[in-house]
Amino acid sequence: MQDQFQVAGELDRLIKILAKLPGLGPRSARRMALHMLTRRQEVLEPLLDAMNAVSETVGECPNCGNLDTRQPCSICVDERRQGHELCVVEHVADLWAMERSGAFQGRYLVLGGLMSALEGVGPDELRLNRLQTLLDGGAGELILALPATMEGQTTAHYIQDMVGNHAVRVTSLARGIPLGGELDYLDDGTLKLAFGSRQNL
Ligand SMILES: [Zn+2]
Repeated sequence: MQDQFQVAGELDRLIKILAKLPGLGPRSARRMALHMLTRRQEVLEPLLDAMNAVSETVGECPNCGNLDTRQPCSICVDERRQGHELCVVEHVADLWAMERSGAFQGRYLVLGGLMSALEGVGPDELRLNRLQTLLDGGAGELILALPATMEGQTTAHYIQDMVGNHAVRVTSLARGIPLGGELDYLDDGTLKLAFGSRQNL
């Protein structure tokens, strides 16, 4: 009987690491590894260069948690931005999404996660000390751009408690009907929330 086929150790190590990336599994990791190795010049070498470059130059902003080549990040040092408006997001990806929308001209705080009793994430694991400093320093409005999940709500309540007596307006992104969305296709929870937050025309 033939031994089961095993890829070489180093290659296997690469595949196992790739398989841990979000959205990939063992099968797509194998395909990626093979793609890189059969296209060394077009893919593998530029990828190595790019990964070395980000590893050396990109870091977390000490103020807001954004990822940037400069510290503090270019958003935190941009004087045209309104420093008293602070948008609180879970991940850097959410910050980027907000920036792509062009809807917001203030600054951010990236929490780095959400509070979750189930996964043992408490306030100490998140960037909430930094929020306390910003509140004490006179933030005027907190815009909570957190997911509409149990963890998002728990985190929002915790932040509201932190705000306490500070003269800070706390708002949250509206929940409701997506642009181009038809009522018939919405889930009941979304429709109910959208109804609850209806506006005057
Ligand atoms: Zn920053």
